[in-house]
Amino acid sequence: MEKREQVNRLAEILAKTSQDLPDFAVMEVCGTHTHAIARYGLSALLPPNIKLVSGPGCPVCVTADETLARALTLARQPATCVCSFGDMLRVPVRVRYPDGQIGLDSLLRERGLGRDVRLVVSSLDVLRLAQAEPDRQFVWFAVGFETTAPATAVLLQQARAAGVHNLKVLCAHKTMPAALLALLDPTGRRPARQPIRGLLCPGHVAVITGADAFRFVPEQLGLAAAISGFEPEDILAALIELSRQLRRGQPGLRNMYPAVARPEGNLAAQALLRQIFQPCPAVWRGLGEIPGSGLALKPEWRDFDALDSSLTPDPAAAVRPAPENGKTACHCGQVLRGDESPADCPLFLRVCTEANPRGPCMVSSEGACAAASRYGTGGAAAVRIKDSKGVRPDSLSGHNESGKEPDVHE
Ligand code: SF4
Ligand code: SF4
Repeated sequence: MEKREQVNRLAEILAKTSQDLPDFAVMEVCGTHTHAIARYGLSALLPPNIKLVSGPGCPVCVTADETLARALTLARQPATCVCSFGDMLRVPVRVRYPDGQIGLDSLLRERGLGRDVRLVVSSLDVLRLAQAEPDRQFVWFAVGFETTAPATAVLLQQARAAGVHNLKVLCAHKTMPAALLALLDPTGRRPARQPIRGLLCPGHVAVITGADAFRFVPEQLGLAAAISGFEPEDILAALIELSRQLRRGQPGLRNMYPAVARPEGNLAAQALLRQIFQPCPAVWRGLGEIPGSGLALKPEWRDFDALDSSLTPDPAAAVRPAPENGKTACHCGQVLRGDESPADCPLFLRVCTEANPRGPCMVSSEGACAAASRYGTGGAAAVRIKDSKGVRPDSLSGHNESGKEPDVHE
């Protein structure tokens, strides 16, 4: 079956499966899902009673202003180079400088002012730089979820093995489960503007953590859950599964990405993470501090910690966040909580554009505002889905505890 035909067929099945269900919202917590949904215009194919809401799925977007301000402080230290991925360098943050001045800053702006800030494409690039320039301190500004933290762990192992001492890590790695528990807290301590009844779980995170790591979604949050791949037909098949669970009144977890996300995950990567990191409280943009949702270096690796090192200046010399209030404030926090869509932000495409972003959700290649800007907020899916016969067979199947293949055809 052609891809376009298959997508249309799945949209019909979804309409049938969700018929008569009360209106419900499904949150996607992966930046790649957000972009696939916008890129293929999938919202336009959904029945009117289903709404898709973006959550805190982009690691650049959820990095708090406090952490960005620390990176700026480190970039201002003598003979120090801060390295990170391109998106992280572009995120704007309103800060108060040590002299009391307030301004909009970013690592890229600091580079324009002559500070040593470098874009890298891999964590191991930082090791090569540190070895090539032993008289400079190199700081790896490490962001990302369970998917990217193993690369930082490998960097530290290799740096220690090579006897490299001029490399530190500003560790902003985060893990997904504690944040989802806090955001979707069933006790209602954090009431969401729109009640979420299903979760499209991040396939890439599940590759590392294992699909079973998302069992807490039905068991503790009482929400329907499906681990999904990233093609339009994968996402529609996952939505059909969520509708079925809601129709039965039995939220569960279905792995719709079984070819790569095994129930137990990547055990070697998990062992590596346990060797280097330990859970710590972390501040998430829009969600605040969440216990156990961050990764800190274990005591035996603290000699690599940028915040525990001689690089940390006198607190009086630190750059600090200076959040904006009122009409000119960025709404990324509300967008990441799923309380608002990008178009609800008064700055969206008026003041804040991809060329002149005012918040991380417009900067990041996985951000919800960038997706809405690039592809629009609805649109004709049919014109965006090119015909192809390359549909992966696993995109329409999954496995559950019983090992039974789900049938998406009603
Ligand atoms: S790293 Fe993978 S799972 Fe995480 S947001 Fe990006 S694409 Fe999604
Ligand atoms: S449109 Fe810009 S300012 Fe508004 S929430 Fe998105 S990134 Fe922030």
